Formats: sequence, C-alpha cells, structure tokens
Amino acid sequence: MSLTKSQFKQDFKRHLKDDLALDIDEASYFDMYKVLAGMVKSAYNQNWHHTWRSYDQQHKKQLYYFSIEFLPGRMLQSNLFNLGWLDIVKDGMKDLGVDFEKIVEQENDMALGNGGLGRLASSFMDALASDGFAGNGNGIRYKYGLFKQKFIDGYQVELPNNWLNEGNVWEERRETHSVMVRFGGQVFLKPQNGQLVPVYEGSQLIKAVPYDTGMVGYENGVVNTLRLWDAEIPEDEESKYRTIDDLRRVEDLTSVLYPDDSTEDGRRMRIRQEYFFVSAGLQSIINHYLKKYDQPLTKLDQYVAVHINDTHPSMAIAELMRLLMDEHGLSWEDAWKVTVNVMSYTNHTIMAEAMERWDINMMQQEVPRVLQIIQEIDRRFVLSLEGKYDQNFINRTRIIANNQVHMAHLAIIGSHSINGVAKLHTELLKKEVLHDFYRLYPERFNNKTNGVTLRRWMAIDNPRLAAILDQEIGTDWRENPLELEKLLKYRSNNKVLDQLIAAKQANKRDLAKFIKQQTGIEVSSKAIFDVQIKRLHAYKRQLLNLLRIVKLYQDLKANPNADIYPRVFIFGAKAAPSYQYAKAVIKCINEVANLVNNDPDIHDKLKVVFLENYNVSLADRIIPAADVSEQISLASKEASGTSNMKLMANGALTVATMDGANIEIHDYVGDDNIFTFGLSSQEVYRYYADNSYHASEYYENDPVIHRVVDAFVDGTIPNISMEGREIFESLVQYNGDQFFVLRDFESYLEAQDKVDQAYRNPKHWAQMSLINTANAGHFSSDLTIDRYVDDVWKLTPNK
Ligand SMILES: *Cc1c(COP(=O)(O)O)cnc(C)c1O
Repeated sequence: MSLTKSQFKQDFKRHLKDDLALDIDEASYFDMYKVLAGMVKSAYNQNWHHTWRSYDQQHKKQLYYFSIEFLPGRMLQSNLFNLGWLDIVKDGMKDLGVDFEKIVEQENDMALGNGGLGRLASSFMDALASDGFAGNGNGIRYKYGLFKQKFIDGYQVELPNNWLNEGNVWEERRETHSVMVRFGGQVFLKPQNGQLVPVYEGSQLIKAVPYDTGMVGYENGVVNTLRLWDAEIPEDEESKYRTIDDLRRVEDLTSVLYPDDSTEDGRRMRIRQEYFFVSAGLQSIINHYLKKYDQPLTKLDQYVAVHINDTHPSMAIAELMRLLMDEHGLSWEDAWKVTVNVMSYTNHTIMAEAMERWDINMMQQEVPRVLQIIQEIDRRFVLSLEGKYDQNFINRTRIIANNQVHMAHLAIIGSHSINGVAKLHTELLKKEVLHDFYRLYPERFNNKTNGVTLRRWMAIDNPRLAAILDQEIGTDWRENPLELEKLLKYRSNNKVLDQLIAAKQANKRDLAKFIKQQTGIEVSSKAIFDVQIKRLHAYKRQLLNLLRIVKLYQDLKANPNADIYPRVFIFGAKAAPSYQYAKAVIKCINEVANLVNNDPDIHDKLKVVFLENYNVSLADRIIPAADVSEQISLASKEASGTSNMKLMANGALTVATMDGANIEIHDYVGDDNIFTFGLSSQEVYRYYADNSYHASEYYENDPVIHRVVDAFVDGTIPNISMEGREIFESLVQYNGDQFFVLRDFESYLEAQDKVDQAYRNPKHWAQMSLINTANAGHFSSDLTIDRYVDDVWKLTPNK
C-alpha cells in the first residue's frame, strides 16, 4: 500500500476533522493516536478480508496457535512498519510539527503475558504473517493485563493494569462467531441409537465472544487473525445466574492474567480459564471447517493444525475428542487418530515445580466430561503399556496418578510432535526430564530453537543501527535475516566501526535521558551499560549479578582509586506477587542502588538503575542502548531465553552461562566474541547425582564470598534486615543455594574482569559487537517459524 508523505499529511488532517472535528493544534496526542491507528486499520482491513477469503477458497491448511499468553506490546509502530508506512509517517509528523514519539506513547502495552512465553507467541504471530503462512492465534482477552509494577521504599507494589480503559483500537468484536462453553454439574452417559451420549445436569453455559485483532505481515499484504475470547452470560440463560457470586465467576474468567506460571494461585480459576479458551477456540475452528471447507471431520488433520504452547492449553486434546465424539458422532478410534495428528506441543521448562498438575476433584467439579475423557485416554494408555513396560514406568508416565492430572503427560500422549526450545533444552528433555516418553515416542521429539522479531528489535527500535546496515549491506536483511552475515565483511572497516560506536553512544544518551526522567539518577553514556532484563526468578540469578555489584562496592570502599571501568547496572524485572524470595531480591537491589548511587567514595564509577514496570515497551527502549547482556541462569535451567537474542542483535556482548540458546549464540560468534563462565549442565547434574555441593563451604573458605554475603546481614546494606536475612539464609543454610550462585561466583567475576578490560579498547569492542549483530539472523523468528511449518505443521505459503 503505497502512500506519499503529502498524501499522508492531507489524510491525517482530514481524518482529524472528519472524525473528531479538530485541527492539529487543537488535538491531544491521544486524539492523534486514535486517528492514526484508525487510518492504519482501514489500510489493512481490505487485506485482512482478502487473506481469510483466500485461505477459505484455496482450502488452505491453517495453524491455530493456542497460548494462554500473548505479549505484543504496543502495536502502532509495528503495524505502520509492516505496512511500509513508518518512515513516511515519522517524516510527515515532523512536517506537521507533531512529536511522533508522544503519539506512540499514548498506546497501552497489550500486556497479556508474563514474559518470554507470551512474547514468543507474539513473535510467531508476526513471523507467520510475514512469511505468508495461514497461522492464527487463540487466547484470552484479559480485562487486566499483567500488573503494573511500582517501587515504594524499594518494595515492589502491584497495581492493576486496566489496559482496556480507553478502549482498544485494534480489536473487532465478532458477536456472530460466539460459542457456548459448559462448566460444572454432573454428566452421565446414556445409550442412544447404539452410542453413548452424555447427559448433563446442573451445568452452566458461558458465552464466549471472540475479539479479533489483525496480525499484519511485513509488506506482503497478508493479515492473519489473533482471536481472544471474552466471557459473557448468555441471554437466554440469564435467569440461571442468580447470585452475585455466579456473576462474579463469569467475570473472573477473563479478568486477570495469572501473574505467575509456576505457583498455586487461583488454581480453580486457572483450570476454568484454560478450558474456556480451548473449548471456544476448537468449537470455532470446527464450525468454520464444516461451513467453509465442507469436508468430513475425519479429514480435519489435513486442513487444521493446533499448537499447544506449553501445557496450559493441553485440555485441547480431550476437548477435541469430546467435540468429535459427542457433538459429531465419530468413534473413539477415528477421533483419536485425528486428534493426535492435529495436535503438537511445545515444552518450555524442565523445572518440575512449573509442570502443571491439576487436582482430579477440581477437574471433576469444573469440567466433568473432559475429565471422563482424560480418564479414558489414561486407561487406554496404561493398557497399551502393560506387559511391555514395568509398573514403575507406567506409574511415571501415565496421565493420572495420586489424584492428579499431569498435563504435560496428556500433551505428550495426545500430540504427534513434542519440541523443546533450544538444543540443550531438547537434549535434556530427551535424556532426563521426559526420557521415559522419549523411549516410547522417539520420533515425536524435535528441537525448535526460539527466535525473535528482528524487525521490531532492530529496524523499529534501533533506527540508527538499521541505517548503518541499510547503507552497507542493503535492506534485504529485514526479510532475509541471514543477510546480516554480510556485515562480517566490515569487521575491520574503521568507518563502519566508528559509525557503530557513534550509534550506540547516541542510543545510550537517549536511555540516559530516560533514566534521568524516570528515576532522577544521572548516568554517563561513557560508562558500560550492563543490562539484565527478564522476570525475577531464582534460577535467572539476578542475585549473582547483585553479589558482584556488592563486591565492586566493597572494593571501591577499600580502595577508592581501584581501576574499575565505570559501569551502569540496569535492571528490569517483575516478581510474581506471591513469590517472596523474588520480592526480597528486588528490595535488596533497590537498597544497594540507593547505597551505591549516593556514596561519594564511588565517584560515579558504579551506578545501579532498577527501572520500574519492565514490559515490551521498556525493552524497546533499553535494548538498543545495551553494551553487556547478562544471561547468567544456572546451566540447564533456562530453556532458551530470548532477551539474549534481542540484545545480541543490537550489538550487546553476552556474559553467558552455557545454558539455553546462549550455547547456540556461542557456537555462532565463537569464543572470542562472548564471555562465558560457570558450571556446565553436566557438572550441575553431577552435583545433583552425588549430592556434593555445599554452599556453606564456599562461604567459609572464600574470604571474598564471605565478605559479600555478610553485607546482607551486617548492616553494610541498609534497610534490608528481613530481606537480607532471607537472602543470606537462602545461600548458606545447609542444603541452600539451590542455584549454585556461590559456586559460579568466582568464574563470573573473572568473566566480568574480561569485559572490563575489553571495553577499554573501543575498536575491538565494536568489532565484537558487529560480529554479534552479524550472527543474529540465525535467531530470527522467521526462520524458527519456517522450521515449525516444515517439520510440524506442514503448511504451504500463501500466494
Ligand atoms: C523478551 C522478553 C522477555 C523474555 O526475556 P528472557 O530473558 O528470555 O527471560 C520477557 N519480557 C519481555 C517484556 C520481553 O520483551
């Protein structure tokens, strides 16, 4: 859709007049945001219509990506960019005297996700549309996105994120595509015409209403659909909803995104949410298939792929069985064959506590028919193993054991493909965590290393870097990410290296300004910008980073002239509200920041900045300005990581454990262009096997560690008497330090010393940085999606 600048300016002014009866000088930034977003939407609506029409006409196989989280962030700029309008609009706004940045900031982040999992789902939506595949999202339209984080006295406080308050310009309510989802009551089977049909008593119907958002492909005219479901009381059932509690239970269903993927909060509501969006999504898929594709349901697997993003949507397996059998009369055997062929599953974690298990009584009360079907899947699974495997093996792998339903087991048994999200992670699944299943179904296991939307993180967020790339290697890298490798030719080109240094400097100045605005802290853009941005979790080891800061602080106090290159430590992280340890770490980081930033002995050599409310739009700002990327999880614990990819693409050098996708980053950039440290995953597993790690020995025997750890309880860091004690105990109590922080500390310091030295040679640093950017193409979600499409979903591109 071509648009000239003068045309844009005219249209924009006309729309302000026509829609709001305003001239530019009378309009607020929010008015202008709404008008501009409206223009973007009308520009792609045609294509949206064309896209689904063409899928229907061609009987194209479609993928539906089921995810309980989507985290697109702000969409105005990415939609403008994908339409090919961004530069024109930026220029045009400049002509009109309008601060485009301010318009962008009017949009509330669509924050319907916690972190990496939801962000991945949104990257995939972009890549599917941009690569021209028929891939749609299916999820929940939460009224409140992930909580807003504020710091009060250094503590995290959670505020509601009422992102829909001012309306959401991107969504379309599709009332006519509503479906009913049944909860609760009793169910029994009654013979009828030689078949068993379910009869329900006392159950409740909830109306699921879809809200669709266009997922605009990059300059290719494709617009796919993200369908998010809202819950309402059905008109003809109103009389059955008598009490306030009844009403509240319906409202609650789509009210909050659970702010943790690994604790026990609100388990019953979580089961209801999972069933709600899975059932609604599958019903709408089947309705559409029968109406537009007009094929028997035994062929569903030729036209439909459903992907289960982590275990949250795994009830889809039982629900599809239910729909095929109860509603459409297929036999168990036919339905099972179709279901397994339709379903595929991504595992995102190896941490046992994050593996969902639901109490069988709760499922009985909430989704009785689905539980019956799961029980039958389990019965048949056990039957198929008896006589071939011993009882222990069967007990370890079956879906239902100890009155719990093991959702990962359901997902694995009911899917034809199971993938991990980085090479190491997939290997660990096969060898350790899911080894039993790997023995049963070796052909189902495969790896799909995660990827990121490089267009967003580079072309949109870092226009200075993009301009250098465009000038030296052309603009094709936007569509063919491996073109970035062409940059390697310039690794010794002084002009290009100087340009890269200047671009990074300018980005750092922008971030320094933002930091000053947000926190009042003055930082120098000449210092190393050392960044750790991700959810706060023990395994991600923000604490390891903090211990190092405390050590540097102590070094400088002992010797104010110590030769330490100035650094700014930048954190962004939310802790789940019920995760006490993580909140204690936040408090400690904030108090260390206070201490370090205000101590004159430190001479601005160290600054610690913890930015509030980490989300996609904050990531958009921080990432282009990073020099150092902290990816320091305990080896084996981070399944993949994606901030590691975004940061390398923007030229940050990684301080990395050999974990997740860090290993693959290391493979591409080589030893010399990354700072690796710490235990390997084999070493971690060896420690587990022989139980030989005793953190207290490191504390007792290493005077540096002793001094640093004591700072948490001896008053060195003020105002943390409770939290400091908690951290202290987590480290040195018998059996403590679950994530080997003290074990990896010395090795971490060595890696950081190398960073300190390397940064002193700007040319060499820029060269390493260039090599990271040049290799980032391998981590484009476009390529990840191509691999899913070929190996798992079997889609063909749209013409
Ligand atoms: C990329 C991203 C993440 C994932 O970060 P990891 O370091 O891979 O855990 C989380 N939150 C936001 C807002 C992101 O953009």
